[in-house]
Amino acid sequence: LQNILTEIYQAINYPDASLIAVSKTYPASSIEHFYQLGHRDFGENKVQEMTEKQQALPSDIKWHMIGHLQSNKVKYIAPYVYLIHSVDSTKLLETINKEALKNDRVINCLLQAHIASEETKFGFSTDEIFDLVMNKDYIESLSGIRLIGLMGMASNTTNKNLVAEEFGSLHNLFLKIKSYENKASNLSMDILSMGMSGDYPIALQHGSNMVRIGSALFGKRSG
Ligand SMILES: *Cc1c(COP(=O)(O)O)cnc(C)c1O
Repeated sequence: LQNILTEIYQAINYPDASLIAVSKTYPASSIEHFYQLGHRDFGENKVQEMTEKQQALPSDIKWHMIGHLQSNKVKYIAPYVYLIHSVDSTKLLETINKEALKNDRVINCLLQAHIASEETKFGFSTDEIFDLVMNKDYIESLSGIRLIGLMGMASNTTNKNLVAEEFGSLHNLFLKIKSYENKASNLSMDILSMGMSGDYPIALQHGSNMVRIGSALFGKRSG
């Protein structure tokens, strides 16, 4: 495991890009192995699974929610979640804000963009994200939220040009928002979360600074 982790750290040029170890479907014991090697950032896509692991594992783990999140489940992760990558509606954003305030926290969030040509993936369009972040008063009214970047998933295809084009389009949006001077005080473009086991080298070539890697670290998932 040490070798796999070292290899991926080298491949992503850590810490220029950071690594989220996607532990969904793997047992807490698998996380512990990487924890003992010093890794602290883990990603999950289901609220119940993440919460069970959070309760069983050391409290200095940074938990990343990367899967579609239903508003009625935000309350379970609000006390401890480190970063929510998958904010895909204003309703969800407002619920996270409310639950953050209840917990006396400010929760870090990324806006998930729909960049893939497939229809099934969740997320805002790039136009919707631009309109949303330009609404300074609205963003600043969400005082329980810190919007620190964007997340996207490319099409699941062997067409590398298409994948590169999709990642590139999100990088352009990221840079456009980043360069805008009159941003809300709780908005910054620090994190561009793009790239999984199959496409992270392309994502890194197109501006990603946070990759979410599961199977290349933990082995193939059965489910
Ligand atoms: C499962 C998942 C990953 C990791 O996928 P691998 O192919 O196992 O690296 C990354 N991001 C999201 C949103 C996922 O659901």
